[in-house]
Amino acid sequence: MIAERFIYGFPRSLESRRLPAEFDAFAFTIPYEGQLPLAYNMLQALSSASSQKFFTIVGGSSPTSNPDIYLEFFDAVYVGELEPSVHLVVDALLEPSSLLSSVPGIFVREKESFQRVYADNLNTIPHLVKPIISDISPITEGYPLEVSRGCPMSCKFCVGRVIYSPFRWRSLSVLKDIAERIVESTGVKRLTLIGAGLSYVPHLPQMLEWLVNKGIGFSLPSVTPSLIFKVHELIQYSGTRTITFAPETPSETLRRYIGKAIENGEYFQAAFLLRKSIKNIKLYFMFGLPDEREEDLTQLQSFLEEFVKFGFQRRNIKISATPFVPKKGTPFEDEGMPPLKELERKARYFRRLRKEGYNVSVYPPKAARAQAVISLGDKKVGKLLKLLIHKYGVKGWLKLPETKLGASILQR
Ligand code: SF4
Repeated sequence: MIAERFIYGFPRSLESRRLPAEFDAFAFTIPYEGQLPLAYNMLQALSSASSQKFFTIVGGSSPTSNPDIYLEFFDAVYVGELEPSVHLVVDALLEPSSLLSSVPGIFVREKESFQRVYADNLNTIPHLVKPIISDISPITEGYPLEVSRGCPMSCKFCVGRVIYSPFRWRSLSVLKDIAERIVESTGVKRLTLIGAGLSYVPHLPQMLEWLVNKGIGFSLPSVTPSLIFKVHELIQYSGTRTITFAPETPSETLRRYIGKAIENGEYFQAAFLLRKSIKNIKLYFMFGLPDEREEDLTQLQSFLEEFVKFGFQRRNIKISATPFVPKKGTPFEDEGMPPLKELERKARYFRRLRKEGYNVSVYPPKAARAQAVISLGDKKVGKLLKLLIHKYGVKGWLKLPETKLGASILQR
Protein backbone atom coordinates (compact mmCIF):
# COMPACT_ATOMS: atom_id res chain seq x y z
CA MET A 1 0.00 0.00 0.00
CA ILE A 2 1.21 3.51 -0.71
CA ALA A 3 -0.22 6.78 0.65
CA GLU A 4 0.72 10.08 -0.92
CA ARG A 5 -0.49 13.67 -0.78
CA PHE A 6 -2.25 15.83 -3.35
CA ILE A 7 -2.70 19.56 -2.85
CA TYR A 8 -5.20 21.91 -4.45
CA GLY A 9 -4.11 23.03 -7.89
CA PHE A 10 -1.45 20.33 -8.44
CA PRO A 11 -2.45 17.47 -10.77
CA ARG A 12 0.15 14.97 -9.46
CA SER A 13 1.01 13.62 -6.00
CA LEU A 14 3.62 15.53 -4.00
CA GLU A 15 5.81 12.55 -3.16
CA SER A 16 6.26 10.60 -6.40
CA ARG A 17 4.36 12.76 -8.90
CA ARG A 18 1.87 9.94 -9.55
CA LEU A 19 -1.38 10.69 -11.37
CA PRO A 20 -4.75 10.38 -9.56
CA ALA A 21 -5.68 7.38 -11.73
CA GLU A 22 -3.01 5.35 -9.90
CA PHE A 23 -4.89 5.59 -6.58
CA ASP A 24 -7.98 3.75 -5.33
CA ALA A 25 -9.06 6.04 -2.53
CA PHE A 26 -8.77 9.70 -1.58
CA ALA A 27 -8.93 11.04 1.97
CA PHE A 28 -9.58 14.73 2.67
CA THR A 29 -9.10 16.84 5.80
CA ILE A 30 -11.33 19.89 6.08
CA PRO A 31 -10.58 22.17 9.03
CA TYR A 32 -13.26 24.80 8.29
CA GLU A 33 -16.35 25.12 6.11
CA GLY A 34 -14.84 27.44 3.49
CA GLN A 35 -12.68 24.54 2.30
CA LEU A 36 -15.59 22.29 1.34
CA PRO A 37 -16.12 24.06 -2.04
CA LEU A 38 -12.40 23.69 -2.79
CA ALA A 39 -12.48 20.01 -1.86
CA TYR A 40 -15.49 19.49 -4.12
CA ASN A 41 -13.66 21.24 -6.92
CA MET A 42 -10.69 18.96 -6.35
CA LEU A 43 -12.94 15.89 -6.35
CA GLN A 44 -14.33 16.92 -9.73
CA ALA A 45 -10.81 17.37 -11.10
CA LEU A 46 -9.78 13.95 -9.73
CA SER A 47 -12.85 12.32 -11.29
CA SER A 48 -12.15 13.76 -14.69
CA ALA A 49 -8.49 12.67 -14.46
CA SER A 50 -9.38 9.11 -13.49
CA SER A 51 -11.54 6.75 -15.52
CA GLN A 52 -12.19 4.33 -12.65
CA LYS A 53 -14.44 4.91 -9.65
CA PHE A 54 -12.49 5.70 -6.50
CA PHE A 55 -13.51 5.82 -2.86
CA THR A 56 -13.57 9.11 -0.93
CA ILE A 57 -13.47 9.75 2.80
CA VAL A 58 -13.35 13.05 4.71
CA GLY A 59 -12.43 14.04 8.25
CA GLY A 60 -11.36 17.10 10.22
CA SER A 61 -13.00 19.71 12.44
CA SER A 62 -15.79 20.78 10.14
CA PRO A 63 -16.98 17.27 9.12
CA THR A 64 -16.78 16.20 12.78
CA SER A 65 -19.00 19.10 13.78
CA ASN A 66 -21.60 18.54 11.05
CA PRO A 67 -21.09 15.22 9.20
CA ASP A 68 -24.51 15.22 7.46
CA ILE A 69 -23.70 17.77 4.79
CA TYR A 70 -20.41 16.07 3.92
CA LEU A 71 -22.19 12.83 2.93
CA GLU A 72 -23.50 14.73 -0.09
CA PHE A 73 -19.92 14.96 -1.34
CA PHE A 74 -17.98 11.98 0.03
CA ASP A 75 -18.58 8.22 0.38
CA ALA A 76 -17.75 8.27 4.09
CA VAL A 77 -17.15 10.79 6.87
CA TYR A 78 -14.78 10.06 9.73
CA VAL A 79 -16.09 11.70 12.91
CA GLY A 80 -13.51 12.54 15.56
CA GLU A 81 -9.84 11.75 16.06
CA LEU A 82 -8.36 9.18 13.70
CA GLU A 83 -5.75 7.46 15.89
CA PRO A 84 -8.03 4.99 17.74
CA SER A 85 -9.51 3.62 14.48
CA VAL A 86 -6.77 4.29 11.94
CA HIS A 87 -5.77 0.60 11.62
CA LEU A 88 -9.42 -0.39 11.09
CA VAL A 89 -9.93 2.30 8.45
CA VAL A 90 -6.79 1.21 6.59
CA ASP A 91 -7.77 -2.48 6.78
CA ALA A 92 -11.25 -1.66 5.51
CA LEU A 93 -9.84 0.28 2.57
CA LEU A 94 -7.48 -2.57 1.66
CA GLU A 95 -10.04 -5.32 2.01
CA PRO A 96 -13.07 -4.77 -0.23
CA SER A 97 -15.12 -7.40 1.58
CA SER A 98 -14.75 -5.77 4.98
CA LEU A 99 -17.40 -3.47 6.31
CA LEU A 100 -16.09 0.05 6.60
CA SER A 101 -19.42 1.13 8.03
CA SER A 102 -18.79 -0.91 11.20
CA VAL A 103 -15.59 1.00 12.02
CA PRO A 104 -16.07 3.33 15.03
CA GLY A 105 -16.14 6.95 13.84
CA ILE A 106 -17.26 6.09 10.31
CA PHE A 107 -20.52 7.63 9.10
CA VAL A 108 -21.95 6.49 5.78
CA ARG A 109 -25.31 7.01 4.07
CA GLU A 110 -26.63 3.61 5.18
CA LYS A 111 -26.12 4.47 8.85
CA GLU A 112 -28.64 6.42 10.92
CA SER A 113 -26.24 7.73 13.51
CA PHE A 114 -22.55 8.10 14.21
CA GLN A 115 -20.24 7.97 17.16
CA ARG A 116 -17.47 10.52 17.69
CA VAL A 117 -14.15 8.80 18.41
CA TYR A 118 -11.36 10.25 20.52
CA ALA A 119 -8.11 9.02 22.01
CA ASP A 120 -8.56 8.35 25.74
CA ASN A 121 -4.92 8.80 26.54
CA LEU A 122 -2.67 11.08 24.47
CA ASN A 123 0.41 9.48 26.02
CA THR A 124 -0.25 6.24 24.20
CA ILE A 125 -0.87 7.62 20.72
CA PRO A 126 2.04 8.26 18.36
CA HIS A 127 3.33 11.75 17.57
CA LEU A 128 5.01 12.39 14.24
CA VAL A 129 8.72 12.94 14.86
CA LYS A 130 10.16 12.22 11.43
CA PRO A 131 7.96 13.83 8.79
CA ILE A 132 8.13 13.35 5.06
CA ILE A 133 9.26 16.77 3.93
CA SER A 134 8.42 17.63 0.34
CA ASP A 135 10.28 20.37 -1.52
CA ILE A 136 6.97 22.22 -1.83
CA SER A 137 6.38 22.45 1.92
CA PRO A 138 9.67 22.57 3.85
CA ILE A 139 9.62 23.31 7.61
CA THR A 140 10.17 27.03 7.90
CA GLU A 141 8.42 27.76 11.19
CA GLY A 142 8.83 25.83 14.42
CA TYR A 143 8.02 22.12 14.27
CA PRO A 144 4.58 21.41 15.80
CA LEU A 145 4.53 19.67 19.16
CA GLU A 146 1.00 18.71 20.14
CA VAL A 147 0.64 19.12 23.89
CA SER A 148 -3.11 18.86 24.44
CA ARG A 149 -6.56 18.42 22.92
CA GLY A 150 -9.84 19.95 24.04
CA CYS A 151 -10.27 22.80 26.49
CA PRO A 152 -11.65 23.03 30.04
CA MET A 153 -13.26 26.44 29.43
CA SER A 154 -16.82 26.86 28.17
CA CYS A 155 -16.92 29.66 25.62
CA LYS A 156 -20.39 29.43 24.11
CA PHE A 157 -19.27 30.07 20.53
CA CYS A 158 -16.39 27.58 20.48
CA VAL A 159 -16.76 24.42 18.44
CA GLY A 160 -13.23 23.26 19.26
CA ARG A 161 -14.04 22.48 22.87
CA VAL A 162 -17.10 20.47 21.73
CA ILE A 163 -15.52 18.31 19.05
CA TYR A 164 -12.25 17.74 20.90
CA SER A 165 -13.68 17.14 24.37
CA PRO A 166 -12.68 15.94 26.90
CA PHE A 167 -9.66 18.06 27.80
CA ARG A 168 -6.55 15.83 27.67
CA TRP A 169 -2.81 16.40 27.63
CA ARG A 170 0.46 14.52 27.24
CA SER A 171 2.51 14.02 30.39
CA LEU A 172 5.70 15.96 30.97
CA SER A 173 7.96 12.94 30.44
CA VAL A 174 6.22 12.01 27.17
CA LEU A 175 6.46 15.59 25.89
CA LYS A 176 10.18 15.76 26.69
CA ASP A 177 10.77 12.45 24.93
CA ILE A 178 8.88 13.57 21.79
CA ALA A 179 10.67 16.93 21.75
CA GLU A 180 14.08 15.23 21.94
CA ARG A 181 13.23 12.83 19.13
CA ILE A 182 11.92 15.65 16.90
CA VAL A 183 15.10 17.69 17.40
CA GLU A 184 17.26 14.64 16.76
CA SER A 185 15.47 13.51 13.59
CA THR A 186 14.79 16.90 11.97
CA GLY A 187 17.53 19.15 13.33
CA VAL A 188 14.97 21.89 14.08
CA LYS A 189 15.88 24.30 16.85
CA ARG A 190 12.40 25.53 17.57
CA LEU A 191 9.05 23.95 18.45
CA THR A 192 5.56 25.38 18.09
CA LEU A 193 3.43 24.12 20.94
CA ILE A 194 -0.08 23.14 19.88
CA GLY A 195 -3.31 22.77 21.84
CA ALA A 196 -6.48 24.85 22.18
CA GLY A 197 -6.49 24.61 25.97
CA LEU A 198 -2.68 24.78 26.20
CA SER A 199 -2.73 27.49 28.89
CA TYR A 200 -4.53 25.11 31.25
CA VAL A 201 -2.07 22.20 30.98
CA PRO A 202 -0.73 21.96 34.56
CA HIS A 203 2.90 21.16 33.70
CA LEU A 204 3.26 23.59 30.79
CA PRO A 205 5.54 25.98 32.77
CA GLN A 206 7.88 23.08 33.62
CA MET A 207 7.93 22.01 29.96
CA LEU A 208 8.82 25.53 28.81
CA GLU A 209 11.59 25.73 31.42
CA TRP A 210 12.99 22.40 30.22
CA LEU A 211 12.98 23.64 26.59
CA VAL A 212 14.82 26.81 27.60
CA ASN A 213 17.42 24.81 29.54
CA LYS A 214 17.92 22.54 26.53
CA GLY A 215 18.40 25.53 24.21
CA ILE A 216 15.26 24.67 22.22
CA GLY A 217 13.22 27.71 21.16
CA PHE A 218 9.43 27.71 21.34
CA SER A 219 6.39 29.56 20.06
CA LEU A 220 2.98 29.53 21.65
CA PRO A 221 -0.50 29.70 20.10
CA SER A 222 -3.14 31.98 21.60
CA VAL A 223 -2.65 31.91 25.39
CA THR A 224 -4.35 33.31 28.48
CA PRO A 225 -2.93 36.13 30.59
CA SER A 226 -2.86 33.72 33.56
CA LEU A 227 -0.25 31.62 31.73
CA ILE A 228 1.84 34.70 31.00
CA PHE A 229 1.86 35.59 34.71
CA LYS A 230 3.60 32.23 35.32
CA VAL A 231 5.99 32.05 32.35
CA HIS A 232 6.79 35.63 31.27
CA GLU A 233 10.40 35.30 32.38
CA LEU A 234 10.89 32.14 30.30
CA ILE A 235 9.44 33.81 27.20
CA GLN A 236 12.42 36.13 26.93
CA TYR A 237 14.63 33.08 26.34
CA SER A 238 12.19 31.37 23.93
CA GLY A 239 13.39 33.24 20.85
CA THR A 240 9.83 34.29 20.08
CA ARG A 241 8.99 37.96 19.61
CA THR A 242 5.25 37.49 19.20
CA ILE A 243 2.50 36.68 21.68
CA THR A 244 -1.15 36.01 20.85
CA PHE A 245 -4.26 36.69 22.92
CA ALA A 246 -7.89 36.08 21.97
CA PRO A 247 -9.96 38.59 23.96
CA GLU A 248 -12.75 38.16 21.32
CA THR A 249 -14.29 41.52 22.25
CA PRO A 250 -12.99 44.66 23.97
CA SER A 251 -16.08 44.60 26.23
CA GLU A 252 -15.77 42.78 29.54
CA THR A 253 -19.55 42.50 29.85
CA LEU A 254 -19.92 40.84 26.45
CA ARG A 255 -16.86 38.65 27.04
CA ARG A 256 -18.43 37.34 30.24
CA TYR A 257 -21.71 36.72 28.40
CA ILE A 258 -20.02 34.63 25.70
CA GLY A 259 -18.41 32.51 28.38
CA LYS A 260 -14.86 33.87 28.55
CA ALA A 261 -14.27 35.10 32.07
CA ILE A 262 -11.07 37.11 31.58
CA GLU A 263 -10.92 40.78 32.56
CA ASN A 264 -9.36 43.52 30.43
CA GLY A 265 -6.91 44.30 33.21
CA GLU A 266 -5.47 40.78 32.94
CA TYR A 267 -4.61 41.30 29.25
CA PHE A 268 -3.03 44.67 30.06
CA GLN A 269 -1.00 43.26 32.96
CA ALA A 270 0.26 40.41 30.76
CA ALA A 271 1.29 42.88 28.05
CA PHE A 272 3.07 45.00 30.67
CA LEU A 273 5.10 41.97 31.82
CA LEU A 274 6.08 41.19 28.21
CA ARG A 275 6.82 44.77 27.11
CA LYS A 276 10.60 44.22 27.00
CA SER A 277 10.79 40.70 25.59
CA ILE A 278 8.02 40.81 22.99
CA LYS A 279 7.77 43.00 19.91
CA ASN A 280 4.49 41.88 18.32
CA ILE A 281 1.10 41.33 19.88
CA LYS A 282 -1.61 39.47 17.94
CA LEU A 283 -5.18 39.98 19.09
CA TYR A 284 -8.15 37.93 17.88
CA PHE A 285 -11.56 39.57 17.93
CA MET A 286 -15.06 38.66 16.77
CA PHE A 287 -17.91 40.96 15.81
CA GLY A 288 -21.62 40.36 15.28
CA LEU A 289 -21.71 38.33 18.51
CA PRO A 290 -25.09 37.53 20.12
CA ASP A 291 -26.26 40.45 22.29
CA GLU A 292 -23.47 42.70 21.00
CA ARG A 293 -24.26 46.39 21.52
CA GLU A 294 -22.72 49.38 19.78
CA GLU A 295 -20.92 50.43 22.97
CA ASP A 296 -19.16 47.05 23.05
CA LEU A 297 -17.43 47.95 19.80
CA THR A 298 -16.76 51.60 20.62
CA GLN A 299 -14.51 50.41 23.46
CA LEU A 300 -12.10 48.97 20.90
CA GLN A 301 -9.94 52.05 20.58
CA SER A 302 -9.37 52.58 24.30
CA PHE A 303 -8.70 48.85 24.75
CA LEU A 304 -5.93 48.94 22.15
CA GLU A 305 -4.42 52.18 23.45
CA GLU A 306 -3.53 50.41 26.70
CA PHE A 307 -1.05 48.24 24.77
CA VAL A 308 0.40 51.31 23.07
CA LYS A 309 0.96 52.89 26.49
CA PHE A 310 3.35 50.05 27.36
CA GLY A 311 5.50 50.87 24.35
CA PHE A 312 4.09 48.51 21.70
CA GLN A 313 4.13 50.13 18.26
CA ARG A 314 0.72 50.28 16.57
CA ARG A 315 2.14 48.58 13.47
CA ASN A 316 3.24 45.67 15.68
CA ILE A 317 -0.23 45.20 17.12
CA LYS A 318 -1.81 42.75 14.71
CA ILE A 319 -5.59 42.62 14.92
CA SER A 320 -7.52 39.77 13.37
CA ALA A 321 -11.28 40.30 13.32
CA THR A 322 -13.80 37.72 12.16
CA PRO A 323 -17.58 37.75 12.22
CA PHE A 324 -19.09 35.39 14.78
CA VAL A 325 -20.10 32.18 12.93
CA PRO A 326 -22.63 29.97 14.75
CA LYS A 327 -21.48 26.35 14.81
CA LYS A 328 -23.44 23.16 15.22
CA GLY A 329 -23.30 21.61 18.68
CA THR A 330 -22.35 24.83 20.49
CA PRO A 331 -24.60 26.76 22.92
CA PHE A 332 -24.78 29.58 20.30
CA GLU A 333 -25.89 27.22 17.51
CA ASP A 334 -29.35 28.83 17.25
CA GLU A 335 -28.27 32.46 17.46
CA GLY A 336 -28.33 33.13 13.72
CA MET A 337 -26.27 35.92 12.17
CA PRO A 338 -26.89 39.64 11.62
CA PRO A 339 -27.62 40.80 8.04
CA LEU A 340 -24.65 41.41 5.76
CA LYS A 341 -25.12 45.19 5.94
CA GLU A 342 -24.88 45.20 9.72
CA LEU A 343 -21.78 43.00 9.71
CA GLU A 344 -20.09 45.25 7.12
CA ARG A 345 -20.86 48.27 9.29
CA LYS A 346 -19.39 46.55 12.35
CA ALA A 347 -16.33 45.47 10.35
CA ARG A 348 -15.61 49.17 9.77
CA TYR A 349 -14.82 49.61 13.48
CA PHE A 350 -11.81 47.40 12.82
CA ARG A 351 -10.89 48.52 9.30
CA ARG A 352 -10.71 52.19 10.31
CA LEU A 353 -7.98 51.33 12.84
CA ARG A 354 -5.63 50.93 9.86
CA LYS A 355 -5.57 54.71 9.48
CA GLU A 356 -4.09 54.93 12.96
CA GLY A 357 -1.31 52.53 12.03
CA TYR A 358 -2.64 49.27 13.48
CA ASN A 359 -2.07 46.11 11.47
CA VAL A 360 -5.63 44.90 10.81
CA SER A 361 -7.10 41.97 8.90
CA VAL A 362 -10.85 41.40 8.68
CA TYR A 363 -12.44 38.16 7.49
CA PRO A 364 -15.08 39.05 4.86
CA PRO A 365 -18.61 38.99 6.35
CA LYS A 366 -20.01 37.55 3.11
CA ALA A 367 -17.79 34.47 3.38
CA ALA A 368 -18.51 34.17 7.11
CA ARG A 369 -22.27 34.02 6.44
CA ALA A 370 -21.74 31.37 3.76
CA GLN A 371 -19.60 29.38 6.22
CA ALA A 372 -22.41 29.53 8.77
CA VAL A 373 -24.88 28.04 6.27
CA ILE A 374 -22.53 25.08 5.71
CA SER A 375 -21.80 24.80 9.43
CA LEU A 376 -25.50 24.53 10.34
CA GLY A 377 -26.86 23.02 7.14
CA ASP A 378 -28.00 19.51 6.31
CA LYS A 379 -28.06 17.40 3.13
CA LYS A 380 -30.41 19.87 1.45
CA VAL A 381 -27.76 22.56 1.83
CA GLY A 382 -25.22 20.11 0.39
CA LYS A 383 -27.35 19.65 -2.74
CA LEU A 384 -27.84 23.40 -3.05
CA LEU A 385 -24.11 24.00 -2.69
CA LYS A 386 -23.40 21.60 -5.55
CA LEU A 387 -25.90 23.41 -7.77
CA LEU A 388 -24.37 26.81 -6.99
CA ILE A 389 -20.86 25.57 -7.74
CA HIS A 390 -21.98 24.04 -11.04
CA LYS A 391 -23.69 27.25 -12.03
CA TYR A 392 -21.23 29.90 -10.78
CA GLY A 393 -17.94 28.06 -10.31
CA VAL A 394 -16.14 27.44 -7.03
CA LYS A 395 -17.03 30.91 -5.69
CA GLY A 396 -20.71 30.03 -6.07
CA TRP A 397 -20.68 28.92 -2.40
CA LEU A 398 -20.66 32.59 -1.39
CA LYS A 399 -24.21 32.84 -2.74
CA LEU A 400 -25.55 30.38 -0.14
CA PRO A 401 -26.85 33.10 2.25
CA GLU A 402 -28.74 34.75 -0.65
CA THR A 403 -30.82 31.62 -1.24
CA LYS A 404 -34.13 31.08 0.55
CA LEU A 405 -32.78 28.05 2.40
CA GLY A 406 -29.56 29.80 3.40
CA ALA A 407 -31.41 32.91 4.60
CA SER A 408 -33.79 30.84 6.71
CA ILE A 409 -30.84 29.10 8.42
CA LEU A 410 -29.15 32.40 9.26
CA GLN A 411 -32.32 33.98 10.59
CA ARG A 412 -33.02 31.50 13.39
S1 SF4 B 1 -10.64 29.21 25.80
FE1 SF4 B 1 -10.42 29.03 23.55
S2 SF4 B 1 -10.42 26.84 23.11
FE2 SF4 B 1 -11.19 27.10 25.19
S3 SF4 B 1 -13.42 27.13 25.00
FE3 SF4 B 1 -12.71 29.26 24.94
S4 SF4 B 1 -12.37 29.74 22.76
FE4 SF4 B 1 -12.52 27.50 22.96
